Amino acid sequence: MSQSNVRVRFAPSPTGGLHLGGVRTVLFNYLFAKKHNGTFVLRIEDTDQSRYVEGAEQYILDCLQWCGLNPDEGPGIGGQYAPYRQSERKALYREYAERLVAQGHAYYAFDTPEELDKNRKEIPNFQYGHVYRSQLRNSLSLSEHDVDLMLDNGTPHVIRIKMPADETVRFTDMIRGDVSFDTNQVDDKVLLKADGMPTYHLAVVVDDYLMKISHAFRGEEWLPSAPVHLLLWKYLGWEQHMPQWAHLPLILKPDGHGKLSKRDGAKFGFPVYAMDWLDDKTGELTPGFREMGFLPEAFLNLLAMLGWNSGTDQEIFTMGELINAFSIERVNKAGAKFDFEKAKWFNAEWIKKMSGEQLAESVIGVLDRHAITVTNDDYLVKVIEAVKDRCTLLNDFYTQTLYFFEAPVQYDLVAVKPKWTDEKTLFFSELITRFDEAEVWEPMQLEILFKYLTDEKGFKIGDVMLPFRIMLVGGKFGPHVFDIAALLGKQETVARIEKALVAFNAL
Ligand code: GLU
Repeated sequence: MSQSNVRVRFAPSPTGGLHLGGVRTVLFNYLFAKKHNGTFVLRIEDTDQSRYVEGAEQYILDCLQWCGLNPDEGPGIGGQYAPYRQSERKALYREYAERLVAQGHAYYAFDTPEELDKNRKEIPNFQYGHVYRSQLRNSLSLSEHDVDLMLDNGTPHVIRIKMPADETVRFTDMIRGDVSFDTNQVDDKVLLKADGMPTYHLAVVVDDYLMKISHAFRGEEWLPSAPVHLLLWKYLGWEQHMPQWAHLPLILKPDGHGKLSKRDGAKFGFPVYAMDWLDDKTGELTPGFREMGFLPEAFLNLLAMLGWNSGTDQEIFTMGELINAFSIERVNKAGAKFDFEKAKWFNAEWIKKMSGEQLAESVIGVLDRHAITVTNDDYLVKVIEAVKDRCTLLNDFYTQTLYFFEAPVQYDLVAVKPKWTDEKTLFFSELITRFDEAEVWEPMQLEILFKYLTDEKGFKIGDVMLPFRIMLVGGKFGPHVFDIAALLGKQETVARIEKALVAFNAL
C-alpha cells in the first residue's frame, strides 16, 4: 500500500523526562498514522533555550524505541522536511514573522523585561493586548521614524501577534466538537524573541505547515493556545492547509482531582514517567514504568485505555489490534483517572499472554540486575513458563525464579518446625532412595511415587507436601511442587532434600 497524505507529529520540548501522558500522545498519533497508512513525524521543539535540558532529547528517543513507537521521520532518521530540530531551523522563521508585521497582524515590541515586570506588578490583570498595547513601547504606539531608528540601532525587540479585539475564533476539534474563543481573553503572544528564536506559537504553525502535517493531536493543556495558532494559520494565508486538531483528555490523579503530576508518583509510590529520569542538576531520580518492571506492550495497552475504548469489553490489545480498532472520535473528552492497580493488572495479563521465549530477554535482564547470570536456553524458558502466571511485574521473576538457579540458603523454618518429627526424617530419607531409583523424571510419575510413599508411611499428603516444597523452594510459594522437582532434575532435587534434612534436624 502506498503512503497516504496522513502526516502526524509528536512535537516534544526536551525539558525533562516523558510523562505517561506524553507517551499516550505519541501512541494516539502513531495509531492514527498506522491506521491510515500515514507518516509519523518526530519534531523536537527546542526553541526555548532557557528550558532546554541536556539529555532530554536522547531520553525521548530511547522511550520511543523502548515502546516500539518508531517515527518515520525525525532527528537522526531524516526525511523530506529535515531538519526536525527547531533550533536548527531558526533561520527560516523570521521571514514569516516579518510577513505578519508587514500585513499588520504583528508588530515590533521594544519593552524591556524590567518594564514589563513593572507593568505586571502595578496594573492588576495586566495583559499585553488590545487594552494596553497603545501605552507600551511598540511599533503600533511609536512613530515610524522612531521605530526605524530603533531597528537600525539594533535595539532589542520581539515580534508580537496583534490579537484582534472583540472577535470569536472557532474550530472543530475531532474529540471536542466545536470550540470557540473570545480574542479579548488572549494576550499578544510573542512570536519571535529578541535572540531571533521563534516561540513555540510561531514555530509550531510554520513547521506544521512546512512539514505538511494533516492532523495534530496534543494534550488538552494546549487548547488555550489554539486561538493564537488559528489566527496565525489564517494570517499566513494557509487556512485551507490547517491540520485537523484533537486535544487529548488529561490523565487525572487516582481520586480524579486534578492532573496526574510527577509529585503524585512520589506520593503514591507509582511511576509517572515512561523510564527512569535522573535530573542531573538536583540528582533527583523520577522512577519509570520500564524500571518498575512493565512490559512495553502492557504499558502501551494501559495507556491506550486511558481515555479511549473500543466500544467493546475487550481490554487487552496487541499493537495490531489497537491499530485496527483505534479511532480518534472514540477518545473521551473527560479526563481519565489513573489507577495503578489496573496498570499492574495489564502487565500481569501481558506476562501471561507472552511465551517463555518472548519473556526470556527481559527475565535475563532482571536476574542480571541481581547479579544472577543465566543463559537463554530451554531450561530458562521452561522456568519462565512455570512461574509467569505468578508474576505481576517483571521484577517478580527474581523471587519467583531464583530457587531454580540457586538452592535455597534459608528455609521458612517457622512453617516446618512445629510439626517436624523423626518419622518425617525417615520419610524423606526413604523418598531420596525412591527418587534415586526413579527411571522417569516427570511431574506425574513423581507425584504418584510421592503419594504412594505417603500412604505406605501412614502420612496425610498435607503433612509432607509442605516440607517438601520448602526443601526445594525455601518458602511456601511457587508452582506445583512436582513441576518444580521435574525441572530441577533428579540430582538437584535429591541434593536439596539432603541439605534441608540437615537444617530441619538441627532444629
Ligand atoms: N512542544 C509542545 C510540547 O512540548 C508541543 C505541543 C503541540 O503538539 O503542539 O508539548
